[in-house]
Formats: sequence, C-alpha cells, structure tokens
Amino acid sequence: STGSLGGLNNSESGGVADAKNLRVKLVLLGDSGVGKSCIVLRFVRGQFDPTSKVTIGASFLSQTIALQDSTTVKFEIWDTAGQERYAALAPLYYRGAAIAFIVYDITSPETFNKAQYWVKELQKHGSPDIVMALVGNKADLHEKREDGIEYAEKNGMFFIETSAKTADNINQLFEVTPALLKLPSDSHAL
Ligand code: GDP
Repeated sequence: STGSLGGLNNSESGGVADAKNLRVKLVLLGDSGVGKSCIVLRFVRGQFDPTSKVTIGASFLSQTIALQDSTTVKFEIWDTAGQERYAALAPLYYRGAAIAFIVYDITSPETFNKAQYWVKELQKHGSPDIVMALVGNKADLHEKREDGIEYAEKNGMFFIETSAKTADNINQLFEVTPALLKLPSDSHAL
C-alpha cells in the first residue's frame, strides 16, 4: 500500500482511505525502575499493578489498536526483563525495532542521563528510520523534575510525559508514535 502515515488526517478530508495493517516491533529502553513494565501493563491490560511484574523473557506481548483512519497497528512489544543492560545483548533486543520508547523517571536525574545513553546507542546502531519517543514517566509525582523537551527536540524525538499510575498520556503515546513512522518504506515493519 502507498501513502504516508504522517498524513493520517488526510483521509478524513476526502482522500481515499488506505486500509493498512501494520505490525510494529516496539522496544522500551531505560533504567530499571522507571516504569517500563507498568507502561506496557497499563496499555495492554488497562491497569496499574506494580506487584504483578511480567517477565516474559525473549518473547513479547502483542496488542492491536485501530487509529482514526482505520489503520490497525499491531504492536509486538518486547520485554527484556532487564537484559538489555548487558551491552552485548542490547542490539539483539532493538534490532529491527520500528519504534523505541526511551523511558526515564521525571524525578530521577540518573535515569534521564541513562535515557541519553540509549538515544545515542540507537542513533548509532538502530534502524535509520526508527521513531524514538522520549518518555518522562511518573508524571503524577510532583517533585522537582527533569524536563526532557529540549533534549528531545534537539534529537528529533517525540516527547511526552506519562503516568502508568494514573494512565495519563499512555494511550496517546501508543497512538501518536505509529503515525510518525516513515512509510511506505516499511522495511522496518516485521
Ligand atoms: P521497569 O523496571 O522500568 O520495568 O519499572 P517497573 O514498571 O517495574 O516500575 C518500577 C516501579 O515504579 C513500580 O513498582 C511502580 O510502583 C513505580 N511506577 C511505575 N510507573 C509509575 C508511575 O507512573 N507513577 C508512579 N508514581 N510510580 C510508578
């Protein structure tokens, strides 16, 4: 199929709606404890339950959503159970990923530094067309915060603050990022 997902809204203004079914490999990177599993569980199961942490090893969770123009996006969400921190394993994890969520905890400068490490890593070794979102999680905690907007803009990333706890901006994160994929060069789709 042809057409650009970037023009999602065009179909509503009279264009021919191009039914598309995308399969998207999605990875989440960031320090342990920033809320990666909670974000995925909030999205897939609609709940915040920090006690039931899923560790699905080399497998992935999948979740399909329909965008406004009837494009369906099937996310294949990789959960590394923390193994990505072993430098040698990281490339196996993010290889072929179309979308990466680089997650930090807005209350923790160390996790923001680690996020910048992952951005550089993906800029060097990730797919050239990868869509990266910088995700400041735990936005419900109103403490002195790290603000990632400037860094994200400098690096051509989508920026959003989320809360897996309150569900704030979780669906938006998963709905907006597929619209930023560069199509029809879908070589990065699974
Ligand atoms: P991961 O290691 O990055 O997968 O982090 P987890 O998803 O296991 O989350 C680590 C801890 O952070 C959990 O025990 C949650 O209690 C907490 N947490 C996760 N997301 C949020 C959030 O949005 N707000 C708050 N206040 N706490 C969160």
